[in-house]
Order: sequence, then structure tokens, then C-alpha cells
Amino acid sequence: MKRAEIKSLSLEEWNLGFSHPLIIAGPCGVESEDQIHKVAHELKGSKVQLMRGGIWKPRTRPDSFQGIGKDGLRWLKEAGFENNLPVTVEVAHPRHVEEAVATGIDVLWIGARTTVNPFLVQEIADALKGIDIPVMVKNPINPDLELWIGALERLSRAGITKLAAIHRGFSSSEKSRYRNVPQWQIPIELKRRLPAMPLICDPSHISGNRNLISSISQTALDLNYDGLMIEVHTDPDHALSDREQQLTPEAFLKILEELIVRQPLVDDVIFLSLLEELHDRIDKIDEEILVLMAERMRVAREIGQYKKENNMTILQVERWTEILRTRLQSGLTKELSNEFIVRLYELIHQESIEHQTQVMNTTESTDHSQ
Ligand code: PEP
Ligand code: MN
Repeated sequence: MKRAEIKSLSLEEWNLGFSHPLIIAGPCGVESEDQIHKVAHELKGSKVQLMRGGIWKPRTRPDSFQGIGKDGLRWLKEAGFENNLPVTVEVAHPRHVEEAVATGIDVLWIGARTTVNPFLVQEIADALKGIDIPVMVKNPINPDLELWIGALERLSRAGITKLAAIHRGFSSSEKSRYRNVPQWQIPIELKRRLPAMPLICDPSHISGNRNLISSISQTALDLNYDGLMIEVHTDPDHALSDREQQLTPEAFLKILEELIVRQPLVDDVIFLSLLEELHDRIDKIDEEILVLMAERMRVAREIGQYKKENNMTILQVERWTEILRTRLQSGLTKELSNEFIVRLYELIHQESIEHQTQVMNTTESTDHSQ
């Protein structure tokens, strides 16, 4: 895949006094002048370095709270200013950019429902030309890394150098404990492709549920994310949006206290040599896995040949059901999760089918017409 050319400064270089990890907190939506002042006051002096508050809310249904609108910008800015907190707001339209910049909002973010729309992202990027403001881009609601990178690219080409990516999870039609499934491999791939791009996790929109926020936040920190964006409301149960996932300042500050920030690299020689040894073991195991996979596919091709000669279909559902059942059972005693076994075997089975299809299509066809 073509490497995207995106220059991005580190969070420390945004000149807002940020240090690792960047903690962003505040309500889903600004609801009143009083509410945002109360939140700001509670966050003052904590590890929070940037306060969030949605003014224009992209809601699924037209009858839901659509955001307080333009007045809220000033309330947010003033509440931040009085409590020594820079502030950030979601923009979904060039007009939002204009109004947010005019009010002195410090950082902008583009929401998941906007990132999916390249026309809109381009219009926002055009409106930002010549303005030196940091912009954070949430992943699109669908698991499409290219679309996410594409939005960052559009902003980068408009001259924005202070960029960050926010991982807020992905919509799924499958039943899940998450409101938006994290699919951690997607932000990890973003980090591989754009190593300098700051990456922030939004556990509130991933979880949709305040009980999961602590564990998702810790996972993100352990994956070396650069920051967290968490929704905090003084009265979550009466919030006008995202009630279940917002935390009281008290609960939020307790979670912050308990989070462990680990270092990606350490210089302890003994630890490093131990790590190297473990990496060596993993490398060897991976090689063994690949040799075994190759062997498994060779056998699958033999089966394909046999099926072809006997005019049998490639897929026998009973056999596939049996494979899954027995592998799941075997996984139980090996500390391997059901989810992993299912995903692994779906992949292996698909690959086997592809090998067998090739055999079916490339060997001389048997004449069954007589
Ligand atoms: C939000 O941050 O409140 C929001 C609307 O998030 P998302 O764009 O991730 O849905
Ligand atoms: Mn929200």
C-alpha cells in the first residue's frame, strides 16, 4: 500500500503545553453556560489538559438533542479560559470552522460521521487554509482505514501541521459488548503507516457504557496511544446525549488516578536481553506456524483433487461445523478465546477453500457426462 505523505507535529509541539499522555475530557455536549462552567471547574488542576464539548451534535434521529449551537462556543471558551484549560469542539461544516475559529477555540475535531464524507472533509480543509489550528480526526464509522487516512491527507494538504487521529471504534451489525467495536488492528495499522501521527483513544464512544471506560483506556495506554478523550458530565443520568457512557467528574478522576502509564522502551539491559530472548521464541513459533499452515494447505489441495475426481462440492457444512466445534472445545483448555478461535478458523477455512477452488479450476476436468 502506498505510504501516505503526511507531516504531523507531535502533541508536545502543538504549543498548548501538552505532555504525555494527553487527557481530553468534558461533556458529550455543552448544554448550558452553568453546566460547562461546573465541568471545567471540576477538571481544573487535574491531569486533564484539554476540555471537550460538542456544540453541534450529529445525531442519528431528528428528535434528539442536536446541540446548543453557536452560543455554546462562547460558554465553552470562557469556561476553559477561567479554569486554565484550552478547549476543543467538533466541526462538521465550513461554517462551524469559521465560528469556532472566530471564538478562539484552541483545537478542532472532525467527527466519525463527517470523516466518511470526502466532500465535506475537503470543504472543511479548504475553510482551514491559512489557519494554524490543530485538528483531530475521528475514524469513520465504518472500518475503512483508507478513508481515515484520506481525511488526514486532505487536511495536511490544506497546510494543517498539527494533526491527530482519534480512534472511537467502528459500527457493526453484529451483537457486541461495545457500542462501537474497537478493532484495534485498524488504529495499529494507521500507526504503522503514519508513525508520527499522534493517536488518541475515545473509550466513551467505543464502550457506550461507563463501566468499560477504565479497561479500554488502559488497553489504549498499553498500546502506546498518545492520549485519551473521555466524556465527563456533572449529571450523566440527565445528560441530553450519550447518558450511559458519560462519567461524573468524581468517577472519571478516580479512573485517571488508577491508570498506569507504561514506557514503550526502557534501558534496563537485563530486561532488554530477556525481551530479546522472548522475541526470538516468538519468531521461531511463528515460523513453525507458517510451516504447519503450508502443510495444512497442501493437504487441503489433496482433498480438493479427491473431491474433484469424485465430483463432490468443496464445502461440506457438517464438516465445517465439526471443525469449529472441536477447535473451540480444544481452545477451552489452552487459554484461547472463542472469538479468536472462530476468527482464526474462518480465515484458515477460507484459505483452504481458495486452495481447493484453484485445484478444481486448474486440473484437467473429468468428464461426468456419460
Ligand atoms: C462525540 O464525540 O460526542 C461524537 C459525536 O463522537 P463520534 O463522532 O465519535 O460519534
Ligand atoms: Mn458523545
